Amino acid sequence: MRLKLWGTRGSIPCPGPETVKYGGNTTCFEVTCGKKRIIIDAGTGIRLLGKKIMLEEANLLNADLFFTHTHMDHIQGLPFFAPLYNPNSDVRLNAGHLGGEKYDLQGIIGTMLMKDPVFPVPSSLIEQACSFNDYDCGTVFELGDGVVIKTGKLNHPNGACGYRIEFDGKVIAICTDTEHYEGEIDANVVELAQDADIMVYDSAYTDEEYPKFKGWGHSTWQEAVKVAEKAQVKQTLLFHHDPSHNDEKMDQIAQEAAAVREGVRPAIEGEVISL
Ligand SMILES: [Zn+2]
Ligand SMILES: [Zn+2]
Repeated sequence: MRLKLWGTRGSIPCPGPETVKYGGNTTCFEVTCGKKRIIIDAGTGIRLLGKKIMLEEANLLNADLFFTHTHMDHIQGLPFFAPLYNPNSDVRLNAGHLGGEKYDLQGIIGTMLMKDPVFPVPSSLIEQACSFNDYDCGTVFELGDGVVIKTGKLNHPNGACGYRIEFDGKVIAICTDTEHYEGEIDANVVELAQDADIMVYDSAYTDEEYPKFKGWGHSTWQEAVKVAEKAQVKQTLLFHHDPSHNDEKMDQIAQEAAAVREGVRPAIEGEVISL
């Protein structure tokens, strides 16, 4: 099982010399389980994954893409994901946070993201390569070859789903975007992260910054430590770096977090972890 982080930033891409170390692209994960390829989120980081597939794999992709939710920073790379323009690709897009009444995933992409006058290329140009699935958060997916993906509700405006990917005795949990509840640890997050080899956790803020952003749907690295302790997580990746946190600030967070619990550190764009 292998995890590659194609985008670690939250809210908006932050390119430039101040963010080269921890990354400026927004959310995208690639999880490889044997022959299966799972992508979580299509932030701007997904463009780089697409470039790799174009150069090394003839731009042909067979994968399952799960969205944590459809806020802009998690979908805005999708129109720039090259393999979707190859009609022979087979990409199954899944979202579980929409509730099935007002919005559906295909509609959001087709009428809000890839729609004039917001974007010049219509979604019909990628639809041959795509199928769309709106599921109820809490659903368990069995993708074959022993890959199991459990989903769980996160605490975020407009909803979000966390993922627990199990394969070959290993577990990767992805818990972003989510806000902690004061004075208690979110049982949904603990369930997703229990005994995980890697937990990715929304750590947009520090505890000192958090009061200004209460209700915005994000958490802190100090809360990540609490979840990691409760759920007995081996490695914790602090994630959804706030745009205001430059590399210097992230280095400081890295130092403080490592002093509190072993195996807790900020995620770095481009890094690969093999389990
Ligand atoms: Zn976000
Ligand atoms: Zn969000």
